[in-house]
Amino acid sequence: MTSTNCTITFTQKMHTDSAVLFAGVCDPCGVPVWAGSPEDAQTRFEHHRDIPEPPAEVLARPVTVADVDTYPAWFLNGRGFPVAAAAKCQHGYTLVAFCPECA
Ligand SMILES: [Zn+2]
Ligand SMILES: [Zn+2]
Repeated sequence: MTSTNCTITFTQKMHTDSAVLFAGVCDPCGVPVWAGSPEDAQTRFEHHRDIPEPPAEVLARPVTVADVDTYPAWFLNGRGFPVAAAAKCQHGYTLVAFCPECA
């Protein structure tokens, strides 16, 4: 399923020694997208938008560390990102951050 809500604007450029990086954030997901070229940026954005949803029962309950482990693409790079970013593990890390205790 493809979301029609996602829009992204690449507004920043960062120059490093070897490359120009394009940075953007999906609205409304808040997922950061980094790319090396405008074409790459578009590809990465479409990938984000097209990551399939997990089953309805997963979406219906509060997200857990186990859910993020099971559906990392959705919760870390897909449209589940804002839900996971708003939740915390028992150690106080958001579910999109790396928790050394949960790992
Ligand atoms: Zn999005
Ligand atoms: Zn933890």
